[in-house]
Amino acid sequence: MQGLMMDFPLTTNVILDYGNRVFPYKKIVSILPNKTRHAYTFSDLYKRSKQLANALHNKLGIKKGDRVATFAWNHYQHTELYYAIPGAGAVCHPLNLRLNIEQISYIIDHAEDQAIFFDASVADILEKAAKNAKSVKHYIVINADKSFTTTLPNVMHYEDLLVEFDDDFKWVNVDENDACAMCYTSGTTGNPKGVLYAHRTTYLHALTMITSNMSNITTHDTVLAIVPQFHVMGWGYPYVCLFAGATMVFPSMHLKPKELIQIIQEEKVTIANGVPTIWSGVYDELKNNPPEKQLSLKEIFVGGSALAKSLIKAWDDDFGVKAIHTWGMTETSPLAVMSKLLPEHKELSEEEQLNIKAKQGYELPGLELRIVDDNGKVLPRDGNSVGEIQIRGAWVIKSYYKQTENVNSFTDDGWFKTGDVGNISADGYMQITDRTKDLIKSGGEWISSLALEAGLLAHENIREVAVIAIPDDKWMERPLAVIVLEQGKQITIEEIHTFLLANKFAKFELPNSYTIVDDIPKTSVGKFDKKEMRRLYSEGKLI
Ligand code: AMP
Repeated sequence: MQGLMMDFPLTTNVILDYGNRVFPYKKIVSILPNKTRHAYTFSDLYKRSKQLANALHNKLGIKKGDRVATFAWNHYQHTELYYAIPGAGAVCHPLNLRLNIEQISYIIDHAEDQAIFFDASVADILEKAAKNAKSVKHYIVINADKSFTTTLPNVMHYEDLLVEFDDDFKWVNVDENDACAMCYTSGTTGNPKGVLYAHRTTYLHALTMITSNMSNITTHDTVLAIVPQFHVMGWGYPYVCLFAGATMVFPSMHLKPKELIQIIQEEKVTIANGVPTIWSGVYDELKNNPPEKQLSLKEIFVGGSALAKSLIKAWDDDFGVKAIHTWGMTETSPLAVMSKLLPEHKELSEEEQLNIKAKQGYELPGLELRIVDDNGKVLPRDGNSVGEIQIRGAWVIKSYYKQTENVNSFTDDGWFKTGDVGNISADGYMQITDRTKDLIKSGGEWISSLALEAGLLAHENIREVAVIAIPDDKWMERPLAVIVLEQGKQITIEEIHTFLLANKFAKFELPNSYTIVDDIPKTSVGKFDKKEMRRLYSEGKLI
């Protein structure tokens, strides 16, 4: 039809081209795994991403739609991969290096990754996880010296690969609905599930994120990207900052409170993101060892778990830093909701304002939230009605990658069922009060209660076991195992740990405590009544 706009695909290439054209001098700083500081510009990122895409296409034989994995911390090379892999027409697939070996192996096989780019510092994990990987043809090591050795086959050094190719490379033609990236999420039952992000949805998510009611990141900001790049594409920040022209800072694995404070002060960081565990640790460190210079930090974006109201207040009162609550999921690209005050809230008391900030927040433009009861009835936005939170919109999942089983995550009328439970107030703020998914979120990582239950049940002294999440000051949640022992048998926490570690559980998945009971509370249909167990725990009756 005449009179319409150009046919212009919205791709990650457009994001990088824009950053290079408009903000070529802007800095990207990385504190590398060996603690050295590396700094270069958006223009360098652009050139090296082109070189890398050239190498992927012309040397590694990566074809359109292939999955290419990363197994790395946050740094400039990881960001090059974010742009080069889709630029070569393929799908950038960050593997979560905190999962247990079995999960990582499963994901590599399921995604059929063709190549894996990995940090030398985590080679030992990958050696175990990729031992039997059939699809992987190339392993490329990042941040390794020449003496690096590994049992992985056909390993190339990242810089050796890049140096062979120049930046004269035309991005491979893609449709905006083609996938540019993918991440896996932990399943309540069964295996991790893959979520594909399209070029278009990644573009729209990044663009919406920089709008002023949302993150409002601009070219005046220096952004510390703490959320791992293997968690839902680092919440999209490596794209957001290119659009915003914001200086980017990557900390690799230097995530201890002292290290983060040093980076914030030295690089004059104004905005940072991260899970509550990070921000409670940094807060404590600042309180115990107040910095000599005033903090450059203005705002922190906090999500992945609920941020305590007391911490939101303390950050503001003690350091003048606004802690802004965000909510999202692997399935929502991720950011979907943000909690900032409106001018209408100005007249409220401090306590009332704090109650609003502690809610998860209002939708990003273009997304839609609703709450629904057990019978599928949509409930009013009145702040009282509580139901499952459902969401739809341009960057919300439609189906899982290679989904064969019925996952019961989608409604017939096209909404995604989040597994979170809560209310929405009349002024549009969503608040999570519970969750239906039987998982534990510890320091931003999921632990499957069901997997732990199955793991523990294999122990000969255990007759029955249920695992619930209990609150924890540092990690937000930790697993508690509620155990019925076989008659006359005993068990210690050390035995539990040794047994689970021998059965391939990761250290962070191990319950730090357990309680022995005669009977585990059950529902009328004989399922573990975890709600009741959590209630008993909160009343001190399950210790
Ligand atoms: P993931 O897919 O690993 O990013 O986890 C998404 C889930 O984390 C959500 O469904 C929530 O259960 C939880 N979550 C994320 N952000 C928040 C938040 N701000 N408050 C409470 N829970 C959150």
